[in-house]
Amino acid sequence: MEDQFDIIIVGGGIVGLATAYQFAKTYPNKTIALIEKEDHLGGHQTGHNSGVLHSGLYYKPGSKKAILCLEGKEEMVAFAKEHNIPHDICGKIIVATEAKELANLEKIYANGVANATPGIEKIDAKRIKEIEPFCEGIAGIWVPSSGIINYRAVSDKLGELILQQNPKNKIFLSEECKKITQQESISTITTNKKTLQAKIVVACAGLHCDRIATKDNLKINMKIVPFRGDYYELSDKGKNKVRNLIYPVPDPDFPFLGVHFTRMIDGSIECGPNAVFSFKREGYSRTAFSLRDAFESLTYKGLWILFSRHWKQGIEEYKRAFSKRLFLKSLQKLVPSLELNDIQPARAGVRAQALDNKGDMIIDFRIEFNKNHVHVLNAPSPAATASLSIGRYIVAEIQKKKLIE
Ligand SMILES: Cc1cc2nc3c(=O)[nH]c(=O)nc-3n(C[C@H](O)[C@H](O)[C@H](O)COP(=O)(O)OP(=O)(O)OC[C@H]3O[C@@H](n4cnc5c(N)ncnc54)[C@H](O)[C@@H]3O)c2cc1C
Repeated sequence: MEDQFDIIIVGGGIVGLATAYQFAKTYPNKTIALIEKEDHLGGHQTGHNSGVLHSGLYYKPGSKKAILCLEGKEEMVAFAKEHNIPHDICGKIIVATEAKELANLEKIYANGVANATPGIEKIDAKRIKEIEPFCEGIAGIWVPSSGIINYRAVSDKLGELILQQNPKNKIFLSEECKKITQQESISTITTNKKTLQAKIVVACAGLHCDRIATKDNLKINMKIVPFRGDYYELSDKGKNKVRNLIYPVPDPDFPFLGVHFTRMIDGSIECGPNAVFSFKREGYSRTAFSLRDAFESLTYKGLWILFSRHWKQGIEEYKRAFSKRLFLKSLQKLVPSLELNDIQPARAGVRAQALDNKGDMIIDFRIEFNKNHVHVLNAPSPAATASLSIGRYIVAEIQKKKLIE
């Protein structure tokens, strides 16, 4: 006998949890099952991120990223206030250190204005120093609405609320979705432990979303390519050199924001992450390797096109990943007085970046339907900030398609 539900969510990262939560709030009488392959929630991208509440200034006006990040940040802050989740709207600065970065800084500012990012201000070298006394820059942007939060704590609270909403809702941990089949009006999910059925399935499988979509016979024309991000943290000696959040002007060719300084909610200051191609989707060390993951990535045409376009940056990133001195050099661009013993190695995270077969990174969030199934196929940063809005968006799309009464 299969377990029957109205909705099944695959993936217990923040996007799956936020989607389940929005369903539970909108349809308190419907039953929801969430399936997570690890023995805890938020164990992959969600639990390894920088913990920043982004404020939407980088993203193309009108894109899903821009809209859902701005809305989602407001909703995330309201959620954190309602449920006493520690967070701090401390603001951040984006800093140009060389004249050649000024044109991009200007573009980011104009983008922020177009996206209505609240309160952004152009600042000069003197104001940079008032905000971050050890930071040296020639011009910058002050973004007062950015902040910090612990997304793992948000995930745990979402899980608690999903179960509270309806006693029939279930979160199945240590269960991996192995197979999806879709008949007329009912779908069957087979895990390593059981079979479940529901009318609607939403797959939010992060680093494995392409595999789940392929199992569901969806033609996606993309692959997830994992990019690891290593962090250092400031030692006790270096800690006084950064107050809050300091970002460089990002390289416009990449969707990553460049190594930056982030005060975490526990008071530590992290530096990073870099962005290095990883041979393992869930590999958190510099030498992590999976034959299956490496083979899939390295036999993908799109990856070789990307490598051929950006081989120089790729080699530099690899060198920096193995050299503390080179990592320090990048950080010294923003805080020149930092010394080698001001930083110490810390954790790493792996980003699920969707890449198409022409070698282009998919920039915007990508969410696709396959009849009664929804697949979240690209939810990189700022998807943690935007998660509650992404969940709300998915519920609204399902309503529009009249898949739920
Ligand atoms: C280094 C780094 C820094 C970042 N910094 C920020 C930031 O500061 N602010 C921000 O907003 N965003 C940030 N992001 C992005 C953000 O963390 C992600 O966009 C977000 O966590 C994506 O959530 P998710 O639920 O889609 O994926 P995940 O958190 O990866 O969750 C997917 C879940 O699906 C599960 N799963 C996969 N396959 C199966 C299966 N077959 N069966 C069952 N379960 C399965 C996985 O175990 C996992 O728990 C960062 C990301 C990284 C990696």
